[in-house]
Amino acid sequence: MKELELKNVYKDYKLENKTKFRALNDISVSFDKGELVSIIGESGCGKSTLMNLIGGLDSDYTGEIKIGGIDLKSFKEKELDDYRKKKIGFVFQSFNLIPHLSILDNVTIALTLSDVKESEKLERAKEILKKVGLENQLKKKPTQLSGGQKQRVAIARALINNPDIILADEPTGALDSATTLQILDIMKKIADDGKLVVMVTHSEKVAKISSRIVELSDGRIINDKINKKYEKDVIEQNTEINKENHVELTNNNKKEKPKKEKHLSLFSAMRLSLHNMWASKTKNFLMALGVSISLISMILMLAFGSGLTNYISSTAESYSNPYIVTVSKKSNSDDPMTGGFMNFLTPNPFTDEEIDQAILDLNNYLGTTDNQFRVDKNEVDYGFSALTGFTQSASVIYGDTEKDKTGIFYLYTTPSYYGEEQLLAGNLSTDNTYTDTETGKTIGEVMFSSKIVYDMGYSDMEEAIGKVVTVSVNYNKIEITQKMKITGIVNVNSFDQMLVMYIDYNYLSSLVEEKGGEISPSSLFITTDSQETTDLLNAYLTTSDKYTGSIENQMANMFTEMMSTFSIALAIIAGISLFVAMIMILVVLYMSVSERTKEIGVLKSIGARKRDIKKIFTTESFLIGLLSGIVGIVFSLIIGGIFTILFNALLGFAPLTFNWYYFAIALGLSILISVLAGLYPASKAAKLDPVESLRHE
Ligand code: ADP
Ligand code: MG
Repeated sequence: MKELELKNVYKDYKLENKTKFRALNDISVSFDKGELVSIIGESGCGKSTLMNLIGGLDSDYTGEIKIGGIDLKSFKEKELDDYRKKKIGFVFQSFNLIPHLSILDNVTIALTLSDVKESEKLERAKEILKKVGLENQLKKKPTQLSGGQKQRVAIARALINNPDIILADEPTGALDSATTLQILDIMKKIADDGKLVVMVTHSEKVAKISSRIVELSDGRIINDKINKKYEKDVIEQNTEINKENHVELTNNNKKEKPKKEKHLSLFSAMRLSLHNMWASKTKNFLMALGVSISLISMILMLAFGSGLTNYISSTAESYSNPYIVTVSKKSNSDDPMTGGFMNFLTPNPFTDEEIDQAILDLNNYLGTTDNQFRVDKNEVDYGFSALTGFTQSASVIYGDTEKDKTGIFYLYTTPSYYGEEQLLAGNLSTDNTYTDTETGKTIGEVMFSSKIVYDMGYSDMEEAIGKVVTVSVNYNKIEITQKMKITGIVNVNSFDQMLVMYIDYNYLSSLVEEKGGEISPSSLFITTDSQETTDLLNAYLTTSDKYTGSIENQMANMFTEMMSTFSIALAIIAGISLFVAMIMILVVLYMSVSERTKEIGVLKSIGARKRDIKKIFTTESFLIGLLSGIVGIVFSLIIGGIFTILFNALLGFAPLTFNWYYFAIALGLSILISVLAGLYPASKAAKLDPVESLRHE
């Protein structure tokens, strides 16, 4: 039984217009181990076609090709991949080394595809490279070698799995005559080592050195000559090597049977991808930068969103006394002037029945919870808050003329609303029994927010305490002008640009009644027993459609509502920009596949399975996603840091909160879109035809 046997082999190429071109016509020939065969013939006579059939790169033929007595046609795809990996070694005219891999990695690529240990790979590569005289060039890249050296690397690559057959398609075609001889010498040694070497050549000289010359013409064998002068080099040495080989082979066979066939590991795929990505690092970095822009904007918008919400709600919280719950009526939300978030600008007084109903509602709600607290009507403070320009106004006249007048934006009427922390000067109580020394009359007391006092010209808050000012309030067309003594100044935090004045409700009520009017409270102030009860009631008010909480709570809620609308808009924008990023990755990877067509052909000729090719490209898209994610996170931290510094310098606070999961989301999304974008290019790469890929320039 011969090593390689072809019987009545025909190969037709299908042409576009449904006609066929017969490239091989009834080829019957057989070769044995130890032969160095030269295939000669004019260009286009079918030499490469023949090599591709023997090498298992092209299965579209009729007839029989038997290797060691087994028909290639009986091989399943897996077995054919394995056949290329273990039985065949390919050497090409244009070397076909993978440019971004080192010499060592090029030589051991077939071992990498079988997941052989690094130490073993190195050992075997060194041994083989020594045979071709390149043992000291392991770390170099192919571009750093001469043509002859490159071809020797390619031969080493073909030999690494100790194949039985070496197929060389014009291995010396691109070399000068001196290097040609060196390569031939190596080929001869390989044949003398007991392997079958089939070599396509144009050169008479080359052909003469071989042991057998087969001549093709128009797809037929027209001549098959044995070279009687062919001599094996040093017979003794060869037999020794043959013995060695034999031992190796039997060892291999023993080892392989019980072992499960291993394939390209994820780690090796990563390493291959990293090498390739490094080879075009500028392109990859720019792409990662492009993708990261959408991630950066997403992270920053999320950070701003939660930063602002946190800021607003924390100031709203610190602004109000934790033991006071403010209850106001919710106005008709269909009215654009008073409804929705305009609610807090609109005084909406409670009737007596409504006050009873509100207390009942709150207590009913508390009854459904574990909380023991109940609202007692006698303990409820009434208040009047938030003036509008339509029916109410207030001002402070602090000088001699109308010019020295300050308009008041908010009018609160319950001092207990503030906590001690908010008191800047004076005290929080107004007892309204102060007797004016000038007139001998009892006058009221008033508290102001710091802005009013500043506007009046005081830089020291303490100085304003005890000063008497004229306060003017217009309540539903009832004018009240009254001298009052300043007893306290409060800090209203984030709303400190607002002018807030407050007078005791009962006192204001008596002043209105004196003028024949009537006042009803627009807010109920409930003093609770604990922060928990306050939170519980505020939570109820937030969701209630009858009542709302304090102005600060309403503003915080309004803000949260705006943020959630904003979040939807953000999600849409982020979605679109991620989609654009995904298309960009897809285009780049798709181009990368066509750039690397030849490399894919080489990998397939070495025995890479479809899955291995897919794995290499998918890990690459994964790594691109990872890189983009990291770039995005780093840049958003840098930009976020700059914003924080700027905001702190300009506003005294920075409304940015970075949650760890924003980064996790960004990284996850970026990997997800990259891998998704890589699916199509990866499967296209896996499906490439090896013969066509190898012919690709
Ligand atoms: P060579 O002996 O120069 O290596 P080839 O084996 O490459 O010749 O080609 C043999 C013939 O088959 C040529 O005429 C070539 O044009 C034709 N041929 C090769 N590949 C294809 C193909 N994919 N489709 C159609 N014709 C092909
Ligand atoms: Mg050819």
